[in-house]
Amino acid sequence: MEEPATLLAAVNDRIAAAAGLARRKPEDVTLVAISKTQPVERIAPLIAAGQRVFGENRVQEAQDKWPALREAHPDLALHLVGQLQSNKADDAVALFDCIHSLDRPSLVGALARAMDKAGRLVSCFVQVNIGAEEQKGGCAIADLPALLTEIRATAIPVAGLMCVPPAGIEAAPFFALLGKLADDNGITGLSMGMSEDFETAITLGATDVRVGSALFGARG
Ligand SMILES: *Cc1c(COP(=O)(O)O)cnc(C)c1O
Repeated sequence: MEEPATLLAAVNDRIAAAAGLARRKPEDVTLVAISKTQPVERIAPLIAAGQRVFGENRVQEAQDKWPALREAHPDLALHLVGQLQSNKADDAVALFDCIHSLDRPSLVGALARAMDKAGRLVSCFVQVNIGAEEQKGGCAIADLPALLTEIRATAIPVAGLMCVPPAGIEAAPFFALLGKLADDNGITGLSMGMSEDFETAITLGATDVRVGSALFGARG
């Protein structure tokens, strides 16, 4: 298997190339290294190679892996990219610096209360079910304006919109649609693009790309 540091350099080169193609600055794209299922031994080399933003999809797994790493590296940022249950809102607010999966009114209430209690604001991407897939998280496109209104009535900082397009088909139209929804709603942040399609996402305006297997190898 290739060294994580080598894979990181390759991904950063590809981000820079895609940004260049779109006449964007590479530093305007945040690489969120998705370390779910990866043991600390595989995460540490990426930190040593300079990667600072990581993402996990389970609160419990992040609580097991990250407190020690964060103590050793106070400049790390940890993002949550998975579905969040309202009863985990306190834990999520305590541990994460950004949440990519705010997708329903009940979670807005739970996170607003958790942030108020903790005295800590965590910016959130609003996840949109961009392909209208039944089994997927994310709010329906039609419900987005009302959800944004609810969020904006709280102290929760809106980081942007997030999507996971349907698997197995061209992602570009879905990325373009998320960009349009952001424009329509006065939002600039776009969390979109994974290992298979992050370059396409960058050319379509992604500000945060969530890359796992291209950095760590395929998950077991
Ligand atoms: C796992 C995951 C990723 C990373 O996927 P890769 O294909 O391994 O890059 C990105 N976003 C979310 C929401 C994920 O769950």
